[in-house]
Amino acid sequence: MNSVSYSKEIPLYGEYDICVLGGGPAGVCAAVSAARQSRRVLLVEATGALGGMATSGMVGPFMTCYDREGESRCVGGLFDEIVTRLQTRSAVIAPENTDSPSVYTSFIEKYHRHVTPFLSFELEIVLDELVRQSGAELLCYTQFADCIVEEGRIRHCLLNAPQGLICVSADMFIDCTGNAAVAEKAGVPTYKGEEQSGIPQPGTLMFEVGGVDDDAYSARPERPVKAYRTPEAGRYRVNHYHVYNVDAADARSLTDAHSEARLQVLDALRVLREKTPGFEKAQFLGAAPVLGIRESRHIEGEYRITVQDVAEGTKFHDRIAVYGFGMDVHNRCETESGNFRTEVAKRYYIPYRSLIPKGCHNLLVAGKTISCESQAVGGMRCMPAAMAMGQAAGIAAALALSCNADPRRIDIFRLQAGLTDAGAIID
Ligand SMILES: Cc1cc2nc3c(=O)[nH]c(=O)nc-3n(C[C@H](O)[C@H](O)[C@H](O)COP(=O)(O)OP(=O)(O)OC[C@H]3O[C@@H](n4cnc5c(N)ncnc54)[C@H](O)[C@@H]3O)c2cc1C
Repeated sequence: MNSVSYSKEIPLYGEYDICVLGGGPAGVCAAVSAARQSRRVLLVEATGALGGMATSGMVGPFMTCYDREGESRCVGGLFDEIVTRLQTRSAVIAPENTDSPSVYTSFIEKYHRHVTPFLSFELEIVLDELVRQSGAELLCYTQFADCIVEEGRIRHCLLNAPQGLICVSADMFIDCTGNAAVAEKAGVPTYKGEEQSGIPQPGTLMFEVGGVDDDAYSARPERPVKAYRTPEAGRYRVNHYHVYNVDAADARSLTDAHSEARLQVLDALRVLREKTPGFEKAQFLGAAPVLGIRESRHIEGEYRITVQDVAEGTKFHDRIAVYGFGMDVHNRCETESGNFRTEVAKRYYIPYRSLIPKGCHNLLVAGKTISCESQAVGGMRCMPAAMAMGQAAGIAAALALSCNADPRRIDIFRLQAGLTDAGAIID
């Protein structure tokens, strides 16, 4: 016997207009923008903190929010609001005040102008406040487990909460799990990693060090280890080794990869201290509690963004976000070399249809799992773009409620007007 069947009455925790699953950069922005449309919103997050990779994954800085050349802004809206709130806590360096190459970009020269370094614990506080002030209800320590689908619509989501299984009902759902977990359980076609091989980009366990001599590091920009300065003097985030072929939808694979990555952190620390000017006395401040996952599942949506769209800057009629970062695809196995493709349009566009999964009528997806070729998502998986997609999904979900909750039927002009009114950039 390799399966068991199980039947149980599960308590209904609540009924909502919109339920957002996953509280990373995309999910927070989806929940806040939906709640600001006066909808009853629940945001469900598996860990104890909002921010996803930005906090639990210790990833940073926010990649550029400017076009490819670093000349004009291409992300605004809630991203800007988050930066402004971080500024009031002295926990960020605004993107207009950074440039590359510099300690903030680990001396990477091209296409890294105007990144936004931030402090991750302060970001957790800012996101918490943002969500609560929007009126959205927040449920942390609660993991999406499964859903009940009837006639192509999700009726209930089953959640694994500390008190046991609970369920919620909503008219619209937004999957921001970074893993397309909801879409997959709802029967949406998905695929993992690169289309041909099924292999995702590698994972990395991020960590922080303090006590770095900034002057010594900036004077000799050699990079045996990639370390990015945070807004705090002498404090750096390190993004170094890779763990390959991690299946982020499989507990065994994640467990083994995280074990391997812990040992890599020790080795990276040794290399930093021995070979990187300024890091001789670096103190270990801690590793991320969650393994950094660059790529997992992608959904099949109403439109799949192609490498050509990113290279040519296809100006979709239903664009909801703009981005300009190169297609940053790390090597998928030890014997490959990294693949940072720079042939992207100065500004490229994300169409609303790539957020609409095939085969489900009350679901949107935002963040790194949208319908996009694996290579093409290499740039737009970054946090400013994920926030822009989340903001769009929140407004779209609210609009969909007025047309029988089918996100395919909304008025695109109303969505675009709602986004520009909220400070987002779509041109
Ligand atoms: C090592 C590494 C370095 C990177 N460097 C940068 C960088 O320098 N700059 C940059 O801008 N971007 C960078 N990125 C990319 C960026 O961090 C992510 O692509 C981005 O965070 C995606 O946002 P998201 O909201 O789609 O997903 P995530 O950030 O992955 O958030 C998903 C959220 O959903 C939650 N969740 C997952 N499953 C469930 C479930 N079943 N139920 C409830 N909640 C769930 C998670 O806990 C998490 O909070 C990097 C990524 C990695 C891994």
